Amino acid sequence: MKNIKDILPNNRVLTSPEELFCYSYDASSMEGLPSAVVKPASTEEVSKVVSYAFEKKAPLIPRGAGTGMTAGSVPVDKAIVLSLEGMNRILDIDERNLVVTVEPGVINAHLQGKLESMGLFYPPDPASMDFCTLGGNVAENAGGPRALKYGVTRDYVMGLEVVLPSGKTITTGVKTHKGVVGYDLTRLIVGSEGTLAVITKIFLKVLPLPEEVITLLCTFQGIEQAAMAVPKITASKIIPRTLEFMDNEAIKAVEAYKPFGLPSDAEALLLIEVDGARSSINIEAQRVADICLSLGAKIKVADDVYSRRKLWEARRAVSPALYRISPTKINEDIVVPRSKIPEMLNALRKIGEKYNLKIVNFGHAGDGNIHVNIMTDKNRSDEYQKAKDSVRDVFEATLKFGGTISGEHGVGLAKAKYIGMELSPLSIDIMKSIKRVFDPNNIMNPGKIFL
Ligand SMILES: Cc1cc2nc3c(=O)[nH]c(=O)nc-3n(C[C@H](O)[C@H](O)[C@H](O)COP(=O)(O)OP(=O)(O)OC[C@H]3O[C@@H](n4cnc5c(N)ncnc54)[C@H](O)[C@@H]3O)c2cc1C
Repeated sequence: MKNIKDILPNNRVLTSPEELFCYSYDASSMEGLPSAVVKPASTEEVSKVVSYAFEKKAPLIPRGAGTGMTAGSVPVDKAIVLSLEGMNRILDIDERNLVVTVEPGVINAHLQGKLESMGLFYPPDPASMDFCTLGGNVAENAGGPRALKYGVTRDYVMGLEVVLPSGKTITTGVKTHKGVVGYDLTRLIVGSEGTLAVITKIFLKVLPLPEEVITLLCTFQGIEQAAMAVPKITASKIIPRTLEFMDNEAIKAVEAYKPFGLPSDAEALLLIEVDGARSSINIEAQRVADICLSLGAKIKVADDVYSRRKLWEARRAVSPALYRISPTKINEDIVVPRSKIPEMLNALRKIGEKYNLKIVNFGHAGDGNIHVNIMTDKNRSDEYQKAKDSVRDVFEATLKFGGTISGEHGVGLAKAKYIGMELSPLSIDIMKSIKRVFDPNNIMNPGKIFL
């Protein structure tokens, strides 16, 4: 049988310890060394690598940019990492049908920029958009601030080309705006975290770029008022395109990381954006502002591109900035009905007190999606253990309020032991049976999602 080095040119098969180390971790705090990293440049090359792994029964880990938060692309069992970063071409932008075809290694923001220059719009905008790949977005069904109005990655994926664990290639879905022939394999693969197939092409729906955007920075002296503003805004029949939340710790961490001019004395802030036709959004922005004012907020309007960009840069800096508070963070991305946000934030405060841990919260409040960051230090074993124990309390509270334990980061390795808290044994069995149909040798990202 061939050696992996016979499949791809030598410079695209990495085996030195330094190179392997670079592919041993993602944005979670988990790690594991691969046995090799391969970098195919085409679907045919992906298929050859997968066929090799299938024959050898060797575990294979598809990987985009490694920005995942749940160790989805972290190798287990000395697996081979299949890096899609080199397959990064935008293959087609069909302006008449508003369909785009891309390879999986395209960076999200590169597509956004290209489309915007043509007056087009791809809404899914994870905060990692400057460095994560569209393949990783599809595999995780990534969301982002604009999910509130525009939905998540799944809502834009019309079809896929994928290499199955046998090495065979299929195309799922359609390039038309309707299509109901057979089971919806596209939806099954979106969010499957690299456990069913390798995504090699993506057909995406795009939209016309909204005419105008207004961004409001609303700061509150009480966290409850900020939390209460969220359901009040949506109850007023306005769906802003973003409704982002940061608590005081998150604001202070960002300002210490890089001074963006956020008010460090505010207990919480909401970053709210409305978009649409010029004629209507002034009215919407005013109504949103009135609601926040009635709850005691101070409001700043970012009315030019520069100040708007600066605010979003500040928002995207939260995650890295938190490492200023402590060297390790356990990041959960729970979702509750938005009307339950005040109660959930209160429950999180109590969990922090119970375990004597700092918990910093920010996130996509409009979706009820709170990024709960339990701040700790991996090297202080007692404290780290307490932090890990507190995760179960966070999930219990989330489920009690009718929520879900992950809104966008997926399960990966990090949450595998918790899925039974949310899913019934029968649902898990059905999912595992589907996995066996796709992947009888269990080579595709084994150990992820299911224990
Ligand atoms: C600072 C920061 C902010 C973030 N903000 C957000 C946010 O707002 N919203 C959000 O949803 N996420 C966010 N994330 C998480 C992360 O960026 C997303 O999950 C992203 O979709 C991962 O893309 P990636 O290219 O890095 O994939 P990776 O981390 O490399 O992989 C993620 C998963 O996808 C699989 N995969 C990757 N490519 C393929 C492929 N071609 N075929 C099959 N499977 C594949 C991997 O096996 C793995 O299971 C954030 C992360 C960071 C570090």
